[in-house]
Amino acid sequence: MAAGDSFSVTTPIFYVNDAPHIGHAYTEVAADVLARWHRQSGVDTWSLTGTDEHGQKILRTAVANGVTPKEWADKLVADAWVPLLQTIDIANDDFIRTTEERHESVVQQFLQKLYDDGLIYDGEYEGYYCVGCEEYKQPSDLVDGSGEFEGQYVCPIHGRPVEVLKEKNYFFRMSRFQQRLLDLYESQPDFIQPDSLRNEIVSFVRRGLDDLSISRQSFDWGVRVPWDDKHVVYVWFDALINYISALGWNPEQPGELFDRFWPSNHIVGKDIARFHAVIWPAMLMAADLPVPRRVFGHGWLLVGGEKMSKSKLTGIAPSQITDVFGSDAFRYYFLRAIAFGQDGSFSWEDLAARYQAELANGFGNLASRVVAMVGRYCDGVVPEAGPLGEAEAGIQRTVADAVVAATAAIDRFAIHDSIAAVWSIVDELNGYLTVQEPWKVAKDESQTERLRTILYTAAEGLRALAVLLSPVLPQATQKLWTALGAEPHLGALVDQRIPDAGEWEQLPAGARTQALEALFPRIEHEATA
Ligand SMILES: [Zn+2]
Repeated sequence: MAAGDSFSVTTPIFYVNDAPHIGHAYTEVAADVLARWHRQSGVDTWSLTGTDEHGQKILRTAVANGVTPKEWADKLVADAWVPLLQTIDIANDDFIRTTEERHESVVQQFLQKLYDDGLIYDGEYEGYYCVGCEEYKQPSDLVDGSGEFEGQYVCPIHGRPVEVLKEKNYFFRMSRFQQRLLDLYESQPDFIQPDSLRNEIVSFVRRGLDDLSISRQSFDWGVRVPWDDKHVVYVWFDALINYISALGWNPEQPGELFDRFWPSNHIVGKDIARFHAVIWPAMLMAADLPVPRRVFGHGWLLVGGEKMSKSKLTGIAPSQITDVFGSDAFRYYFLRAIAFGQDGSFSWEDLAARYQAELANGFGNLASRVVAMVGRYCDGVVPEAGPLGEAEAGIQRTVADAVVAATAAIDRFAIHDSIAAVWSIVDELNGYLTVQEPWKVAKDESQTERLRTILYTAAEGLRALAVLLSPVLPQATQKLWTALGAEPHLGALVDQRIPDAGEWEQLPAGARTQALEALFPRIEHEATA
């Protein structure tokens, strides 16, 4: 990437209606790995997450719990959503809440601009609304109810009847943007990824776009429409604006952060891709603002073959996993085991098996063995290498190739491919030690130089691994960095540049190693759901 480039990534802002489950945490760690990778590549980087706090569903939940909606949101943010970020080790730059003044005022200014430009009109909405989805529904989106819901239209996502709405609403002239959206999808083919999702959205827009009802007046928990305070802004229209309100945009003064970091890359679940890839760019076009850089819809997590969601009561709390396996394992497992963009099945057995085989036996054991041998055979000082042979050249090539392949994969958000590329170093180094047998070489005093060469090569390979795996495994790689004695010579791990990770002989001979506790300790208790 050229100097001066920036990278900005967002998660959806999460609805504060309930506690976080592993689906939310999956989105967070994916965005976080992309952000950390870019930061460590020397790219000016910004990552944003937050909470969506308006709308009828939250109002009803708060009332049912005997508190105001703001009290309800404050409690969920403090007790659940902010702690989630610590549970899974997220290094976000900002956290925005849609009830903050900095957001609400921007929503009003954005809306006023569209109103002044004739892109909003008043009309009457008559149709269906799912409060669970906070979405207007067409009859074709719905299914016929059965049993207690016989004779009613039911939302297939929530399994509950939709409400019939008849209200005077304000409408956004979204239909005007149909052709411009199709032109965007055509001219910027990676605007929506993966391709399967892109195809779905393109055919949806080709069928024609209606204008969008963007206000409600039957309840009052939302941002007031600035010219008509009987109305509150439709919760999605309000929420999407967070991506620019957090950057300090307003119509008079876009602001320094907006100039630096917009357009962003939006990571979303595929079920809300339509809001991000249709409504949001149409809103931005209406306001004469650049559309997002990319909308990437990841797949669903399947548990026992079913989509995991809180409404189906199969939600698993992220802490259930991190309490047993740690946050690094959580991050690694979901990003390695599931091709990013496709659906993936979660099972405790698969998680436990990968933890043991890949993290504990593969990477963790490699790190422990090498650090222990430098301790035992070289008095805890990284040795000077002698002449390098073909095997050592092979390790150097593997590392250099991994940097290139992993970077290319990250550029297309193929996080799983990126980790796999870096993991080739783990496998090659383990194979190298098996063939070179340094523990045998150590017994032959005439081969001291050869032993030093082998151990230097292994330690230097670990130096590269620590740098390249730091975005995914921030805690384990920090322990390894400390154990290698790298910090006094090379500086902090997070300041190591990924594009330079393949340059050989960075870890200096003479660096003093320290004992390394097991990076991925054996799990004593069988984890079960
Ligand atoms: Zn629904």
